[in-house]
Amino acid sequence: MQADHGLVLRAAAFAAQRHRRQRRRDAEGSPYINHPLALADTLANLGGVVDPVVLCAALLHDTVEDTATTFEEIELAFGARIASVVSEVTDDKSLPKAERKRLQIEHAPHISREAQLVKLADKICNLTDLLEAPPPWPLQRKRDYFDWTAQVVAGLRGAHPGLEARFDALYARIGELTDAA
Ligand code: ZN
Repeated sequence: MQADHGLVLRAAAFAAQRHRRQRRRDAEGSPYINHPLALADTLANLGGVVDPVVLCAALLHDTVEDTATTFEEIELAFGARIASVVSEVTDDKSLPKAERKRLQIEHAPHISREAQLVKLADKICNLTDLLEAPPPWPLQRKRDYFDWTAQVVAGLRGAHPGLEARFDALYARIGELTDAA
C-alpha cells in the first residue's frame, strides 16, 4: 500500500496536540510526542513499513490510554480501521497494572498484524529509551521491564523478522542497564 503522507502527518499533528502537556520520564523531561514519533520512524525507516494504517496507529497509540481522547474521535478523524488498531494496542486502565501486563502477553499472538507491528515498535523504542535515555528507575525495575517486553514480543514473532532482530539486539544489551543515579 502506498504511504498516505497527508493522513500520516495529520495523525502526527493530532497526537502532538493531544500529548502537548505531557513529558517523558527521562532526565531531560523530553516532550511526550517524541515517543509516538519514534515508533513511526522505527516502522517506516527501520522496518520499511509503508501502510498508513500502521503508521497512523503508531502515532496515535497512546492518545486514548494517556489523554482524554476517545476511540470515537479517532474513528471520526481517521476511520474505523485505524481506530480498531489503536484499540488493540490500548490497555484497559480500569484493570490493575499487573493484570494489564499479563494481558499484553496473553493477547500479543491474537491481535491483528498491524497491531503487532505497532506493539513491536513500541517495545523497541521503550528498550532503546531504557538503555539510552532512562527514567530514574532502580536497576531491577529496568531488568524486569526488559524481561516482560521479551515475553510480549515472543507472542509477536513472525510479524516482522527485521524488527524482531532489532528487538533481540536491544534485549542482548540488558547487561548495560545501570541503577538510577
Ligand atoms: Zn508507547
